[in-house]
Amino acid sequence: MNNLKEFYYPENIAEAQKLLRDESVKKAIIAGGTSVALLNTGSVEGMVDITRMGLNYIKQDGGFVKIGATAVVEELARSPITKNLANGILAKASSEIASRPLRNMITMGGNIVQLRIWSDLPVVLLALDGQIKVQGDEERTIPADDFFREQPLKTLAHFDIVKEVVLPKTPETSGAEFIKLSKTKGDYAIMSLACYLEFEEKTCTLARIALSSVTPLPRRCKKAEKVLEGKQLTPELIAEAAAVTREKTKTISNIWGSAEYKSVVLENLVKKSLLSCADKAGIQI
Ligand SMILES: Cc1cc2nc3c(=O)[nH]c(=O)nc-3n(C[C@H](O)[C@H](O)[C@H](O)COP(=O)(O)OP(=O)(O)OC[C@H]3O[C@@H](n4cnc5c(N)ncnc54)[C@H](O)[C@@H]3O)c2cc1C
Repeated sequence: MNNLKEFYYPENIAEAQKLLRDESVKKAIIAGGTSVALLNTGSVEGMVDITRMGLNYIKQDGGFVKIGATAVVEELARSPITKNLANGILAKASSEIASRPLRNMITMGGNIVQLRIWSDLPVVLLALDGQIKVQGDEERTIPADDFFREQPLKTLAHFDIVKEVVLPKTPETSGAEFIKLSKTKGDYAIMSLACYLEFEEKTCTLARIALSSVTPLPRRCKKAEKVLEGKQLTPELIAEAAAVTREKTKTISNIWGSAEYKSVVLENLVKKSLLSCADKAGIQI
């Protein structure tokens, strides 16, 4: 950030976009600033701070929970709204990120736009079928599945602003779980995973299994989800879904663990997570 000369504090999205579109001075968006500070922004001369635009809300709206892009993860960890959504997995994932001072800076938008191998929130959005609202030339709504297919920082235009994350409320007959494996609490993830199951009577009608930190980008394992859908769950079926997740996931090695280690642990954590989802939905296995 050697060339940084200006900070801008727009009061709304239109003002922020006007600043970003004016390329006479090269500018970048800053939210919590915990990641952008590490980027190679050599030619950036201006930072557009988007934290004063009224996007720091967490609210219920009909059948949805809406989270403004600049809501910080400490608020996501504490909010009664997130604690009551889908067995509180978004609150749980948020509470396990870094330290409290950092959680008071890190925003929902920053966490999902610049994906790091350790980013924890994307798996929750994938498991809960989140939608991401982006303001570009026009407003568009992108399903989490599509949003995380590539590194969002590369696919978004320089004037695109993530406005909001929308999560549907989940029915009583569902269960969700988030598990982060790390060496110590608040440390970077060796792996994070989020699972969601929905039932009709005792039949599993919908399954989502999302993983992070084991592959370059967070992803769902749809082949494993198909093993569960339309069936009554048994220990054998859950073991099969976990084995399929392992088989279909090309794990990567990094300083937190080898690909082989992650592969074995992944299978076990998927099993544990699915059993927990069923239990939370009141399904006896
Ligand atoms: C020591 C440390 C430990 C951490 N541990 C974890 C962890 O365990 N798990 C975890 O998930 N995270 C962790 N993080 C946080 C993570 O690495 C990122 O720093 C964080 O998610 C970035 O969020 P931010 O709000 O600070 O974004 P910023 O740094 O402000 O922005 C990041 C990027 O996203 C862009 N951007 C931000 N908001 C928007 C928006 N609304 N629309 C468009 N573009 C936008 C910016 O232009 C920038 O390029 C840790 C961070 C630190 C410093």
